[in-house]
Amino acid sequence: MADYMRQDLTDGVGGIKCGIIGEVGTAWPITDFECRSLRASAAVQDELGCPVIIHPGRHPNAPGEAMRILLEAGGKARHTVMSHLDRTIFDKDCLLEFAKIGCYLEYDLFGVEVSHYQLTESIDMPSDAQRIQTIKHLLNEGCLKQILISHDIHTKHRLMKYGGHGYSHILLNIVPKMLKRGITQHQVDTILKQNPQTWLQFFK
Ligand SMILES: [Zn+2]
Repeated sequence: MADYMRQDLTDGVGGIKCGIIGEVGTAWPITDFECRSLRASAAVQDELGCPVIIHPGRHPNAPGEAMRILLEAGGKARHTVMSHLDRTIFDKDCLLEFAKIGCYLEYDLFGVEVSHYQLTESIDMPSDAQRIQTIKHLLNEGCLKQILISHDIHTKHRLMKYGGHGYSHILLNIVPKMLKRGITQHQVDTILKQNPQTWLQFFK
């Protein structure tokens, strides 16, 4: 698996190289195959210095466990994103405990304004307003350099062409709401520009 990943990053396909490893998919509990995938990602990240992004299983312990496996295999927290935290860690103390690991904390379901989460019915999907409140809490706790946001658009009905909010939702609707809720322009710029730029750089 590491050989495939390394080749995609260094040689690419038809001259086109990928710039990150991910999303590295994991379920809950994490399967043996997924452990191997995380360890292979860690080995290549350690070797090439590339960014990694992990998709956690739908359980509050899943992000921490995935990071533990990655770090024990040589991965780097500061260059790794944990995606989908919106639907994964709800308890504020648990969230701050997870943040101490030092990876990026991604809130990437902006625009998904449904309370029913069809993939795990025990989870109440937060609204955009609730996402912003959680981000504000993380900012107050000193996590500015760790926060990333996005839309995770993976279905046609979320594109503007099919009546969705499209890729401009954060810029058009979320940033103004963040500013109205007391998040500063400097913090917005760090989340939207500086943090992605830093994450996407190879560190070796
Ligand atoms: Zn994902």
